[in-house]
Amino acid sequence: MGSDVSGIQCMAKEEDDFYVLNGTKYWVTNGGIADYMTIFATVDPEAKHNGICAFVVERNWEGVSSGKSIPKLGQRCSNTAALNFKNVKVPKENMLAPPGEGFVLAMRTFARTRPAIGAFAVGAARSAMEFAIDYAKRRRTFGTKISNFQAIQFKIAEMYQKVETARLLVWKAAWEADNGMDPTVSASISKFYATEAAQEVLSEALQIFAGYGYTKMFPIEKLLRDTRLFKIYEGTSEIQRLIVSGHALSTYQPAMPPLEDLPIQRTVNPEVMEGEAEKGKALWRCRMCGYVHYGKDAPEECPSCFFPKTAFKKVP
Ligand SMILES: Cc1cc2nc3c(=O)[nH]c(=O)nc-3n(C[C@H](O)[C@H](O)[C@H](O)COP(=O)(O)OP(=O)(O)OC[C@H]3O[C@@H](n4cnc5c(N)ncnc54)[C@H](O)[C@@H]3O)c2cc1C
Repeated sequence: MGSDVSGIQCMAKEEDDFYVLNGTKYWVTNGGIADYMTIFATVDPEAKHNGICAFVVERNWEGVSSGKSIPKLGQRCSNTAALNFKNVKVPKENMLAPPGEGFVLAMRTFARTRPAIGAFAVGAARSAMEFAIDYAKRRRTFGTKISNFQAIQFKIAEMYQKVETARLLVWKAAWEADNGMDPTVSASISKFYATEAAQEVLSEALQIFAGYGYTKMFPIEKLLRDTRLFKIYEGTSEIQRLIVSGHALSTYQPAMPPLEDLPIQRTVNPEVMEGEAEKGKALWRCRMCGYVHYGKDAPEECPSCFFPKTAFKKVP
C-alpha cells in the first residue's frame, strides 16, 4: 500500500496452527533473491492498524513466488521485485507480531532503518562533493582554475555544510536508538534532511562538472540517479514531514509559555499610569493583542484591537 501502511490488503486468515496468506507486495528490495522475508498482512482490512500482523515467510514454501526484476532509474545493482502469496500456510510459530501489534512493529523498525537511508545519502553526497572539489582544482577557464571563482567556492561551502549537517542528524538518531530512546522523530528528520540535502549536493556537483557531469564518463550522473530513490523508499519525504509536524503539533513539549501567559513588562507599558499597578487593581491582558488593562473588571472592548471583553484574561 505504499505510504498508507494501515491500508494493507494482503490477507492473513487464521486456520488451526496456521495463518493462510493471500496477496501481493510490489516493490520489494531483494524480493527476487531473498530466502527469508518479513511479511506484514491483515486479518481484517476494515480494522486498519488494529488488524495488522507480521510473519517470517520462507521463499521455498508452496504458493510463494516473485515477479521479474523491475527496471529502475538508479540503484540498478539492487534487485527489486514483487512478491505473490497464494494460499501460503505460515505456521503460527513464525509470527513476529500478532494482529494489532504489526503496525507498531513496522513503525519501530522504520525508526531504526530510516537513519540508515540518511547515512546512504551522507555517503553519496560526500562522494559527489569530493569529486567536485577534485575537479574544481583541475579544470581551468579564463586562464585560472575554476576553484578560484567565488561562485564555485560558495557552492563547495554549501555542499560541505549540507554533508556535515546531514551526518550530525544521522548520528543523533543513531545515538538515540543506541541509548534506548525512541528515535522516531530524529529518524524522520535525519532521513528527509539528509536525502534532500544529497539531491542538492549532487545537483551542484553536476553543475561544477558541467557538461562532463552530464556524461557517463564521470560518476556524478550515477550518484544523482541512485540518490533520487532515497526520498521515496522507507517512507517518502512527504510522509516524514507528516510525522514531524504531527509530533510538533501534539506531543512536543514547548519550553516557552503560551502567548497569553507571557509576562508583562509593566513599567514600559505606556497605557499604564504610574502607580496603577501598586494600587491593588486587578490586571487584565487582551489575549488578541496583549493590551494591558488595570481595573476591577475587564473593559467592555479592547481599546487597542476592539475585540470584546471575552478576549481579556485576568493575570494572576
Ligand atoms: C526501488 C524500490 C525499492 C523498494 N523496496 C521496498 C521494500 O523492500 N519493502 C517495502 O515494503 N517497500 C519497498 N518499496 C516501496 C516504497 O516504500 C514505496 O514506494 C514508498 O513508501 C511510497 O509508496 P508509493 O510508491 O506507493 O507512493 P504513494 O504512497 O502512492 O504516494 C504517491 C505520492 O503521494 C504522496 N503522498 C501519499 N500520501 C500522502 C499524504 N497523506 N500526505 C502527503 N503526501 C502523500 C507521496 O509522498 C508520494 O509523493 C520500494 C520502492 C522502490 C521504488
